[in-house]
Amino acid sequence: MAILPVTFDPDPILHEKAKRIKTFDAGLRKLVDDMFETMHSSIGVGLAAPQIGQSIRLLVAELKPDKEANERGFKVALCNPEIVKASEEMISDFEGCLSIPGWIGEVPRHASVVVKAQTPEGKEMRIKANDYYARVLQHEIDHLNGILFTDRVVDIKTIQRLDPKTPEEEVQLLEV
Ligand code: ZN
Repeated sequence: MAILPVTFDPDPILHEKAKRIKTFDAGLRKLVDDMFETMHSSIGVGLAAPQIGQSIRLLVAELKPDKEANERGFKVALCNPEIVKASEEMISDFEGCLSIPGWIGEVPRHASVVVKAQTPEGKEMRIKANDYYARVLQHEIDHLNGILFTDRVVDIKTIQRLDPKTPEEEVQLLEV
């Protein structure tokens, strides 16, 4: 496994629509492993392929379960993900991005989504995600369409510097 260099805004690859994955081979699965490792090394909970310089429709997301908070956690690697259903209810919350380090902003997201995707083996799958998990998937799928969280911020005054005193767990929840 390898830690890959993260691309930062304004790299043009972050503003392009990524290409569909057609070949599900060992090279793709190695890339998935490398993306998980890169994400873990950068205290993120999600990472999309354009963020490591590859303009393909692939994302990984992982949050360890938290028994105290009764959070189930999640771990997925999705190829060609597509939102096929989204709740009308929107929730606004702060989020950040590994490609825009040190900045956060308040972004409205659908409270729940159903995502259709393929596994790195090419198998069709569907996920129903709520709340924070839904937020992470919407943020990462946006990356595959060349959209950054800063494009989604409704009130520009909410864009602010992340306080350097913020505890690491909280930073992890912001960086997607
Ligand atoms: Zn991001």
